[in-house]
Amino acid sequence: MTLATVLEDIRKRPGTGETIPIFNPSIGEQIGEFTDGGKAAVDEAVARARETFKSGVWHGKSSSERSKILWRIAELIEEHAEELAELDSRNGGASLTQCRHIMHASAEFYRYCAGWCTKINGISHDIRMAGGLSGTFTEMHGYTIKQPIGVVGLIIPWNGPFHMSSIKLAPALAAGCSAVLKPAEQTPLSMMILEKILVKAGVPEGVVNIVYGYGHTTGQALAEHPDVDKISFTGSTVTGKKIVQAAAGNLKRVMLELGGKSPVLIYNDADLSKAIPGAAMGIFAHSGQGCICGSRIFVERGVYDQVVEGVAGVARSIRQGGSHEEGVHIGPVISQKQLEKIMGYIDEGRQEGAEIVAGGKRRDRAGYFVEPTVLTGTRPDMRLVQEEIFGPVVTIAPFDDEEEVLAQANDSIYGLAASAWTNDLSRAHRLAKRMEAGMITLNCQLVWDPALPIGGHKQSGWGYEYGIEGIEAYMTTKCVYTQL
Ligand code: NAP
Ligand code: MG
Repeated sequence: MTLATVLEDIRKRPGTGETIPIFNPSIGEQIGEFTDGGKAAVDEAVARARETFKSGVWHGKSSSERSKILWRIAELIEEHAEELAELDSRNGGASLTQCRHIMHASAEFYRYCAGWCTKINGISHDIRMAGGLSGTFTEMHGYTIKQPIGVVGLIIPWNGPFHMSSIKLAPALAAGCSAVLKPAEQTPLSMMILEKILVKAGVPEGVVNIVYGYGHTTGQALAEHPDVDKISFTGSTVTGKKIVQAAAGNLKRVMLELGGKSPVLIYNDADLSKAIPGAAMGIFAHSGQGCICGSRIFVERGVYDQVVEGVAGVARSIRQGGSHEEGVHIGPVISQKQLEKIMGYIDEGRQEGAEIVAGGKRRDRAGYFVEPTVLTGTRPDMRLVQEEIFGPVVTIAPFDDEEEVLAQANDSIYGLAASAWTNDLSRAHRLAKRMEAGMITLNCQLVWDPALPIGGHKQSGWGYEYGIEGIEAYMTTKCVYTQL
């Protein structure tokens, strides 16, 4: 499907609410529109999902059959990678090359989850209970059963639209759940192809239902819905709190992957030829619109000047451009609103005395481009240092001692990721234990693998995605006792 046909199809989708514009952030122009699905679309989608869950048309299939279908989805993603990358790059702003790469990562994620379908088991346990209610010695057998949790609502953000859907949908389907998925209002386009891929792969109709619309209407209706058993949400911490409140009505389970303000520690003994580009791209990649981006760099005094100059040098040399321009490293931010928010933080930091070592301005061109920006001379209590900016903006501060830097690194409401660059092995592992985050990277940044669970600590989230934990997030455990 071409961009034009997808735009035409999404425009015709029925909805009850307002018209929502679709933009291309590389040029800053509206390219299409769709109608907010609203509560009516959610009610219908949840009813369809519930019907399939009751009938067992999906979770009742053999695990081997489900596995084959997930594998087929992966193959179809690769077959359609070019179309999907075209849509995500036009709609989300990331380069076409990056989006192609991400489609293959999504396919791999489905394959990883396909493997789990046939390996989801409970435990068995022998029980010898003296006494018990009958007062006699009792020999019993116990075991656990893992079952899909039911109908799940999946709510995703705009920063990697197709991949975000894969991270939630693949484990939900592997576990046997039926689902209602809501993409972000800014990036609905690649979901139109996902719908077709699911049908082609053999996922029975109604098992996955995609609803398009605003968060405060469609998303809220899904989070509140009394017939949804779990919400898996990725987005901001502010919205995460709204999800928790909305979920209280039927006490549905909630999984949250939220924001971050991840610290990066660079020691005197680090290999700076790797640490400098690693830390620089650890924030500037995808224009800082990654939840695990390292937005606060702390550098041991001996190499401080060298690291500041090095990261600033990378910032100045990065080629920033539209998703379809040649040789581009990073693209625009998602919207005018996001651009204004980021510029607000930079301007406030400047007014409060921070020094801008690189960047600091909006690029003088069409589209939503903020220069990769490096700030020094910040204070720990500045909003710039405390709040998630979600843009290509990093602060760099010196440190002299480990306790001092750990206190500063951990001084955050967030706990998503943390990194350290050092050639002292013991120190690296000591930091891994003491840094307050769910994901620690040592001498590397911005890495992930389907097999390792990621979950935010503190206000960065509840629960885990990826790994067996990510599959079990969509399952319940039942225990069974039997008298022998
Ligand atoms: P957001 O505003 O919180 O939105 C995320 C999703 O929630 C969107 O689909 C949004 O719909 C929807 N939503 C908004 N209000 C809602 C409500 N009241 N009820 C139900 N759903 C609602 O986040 P964003 O600005 O799109 O994304 C950026 C944030 O995501 C950052 O904070 C980032 O750190 C976080 N993030 C975290 C991870 C992670 O794995 N930890 C990964 C990526 C991003 P609309 O689009 O219509 O607003
Ligand atoms: Mg939003």
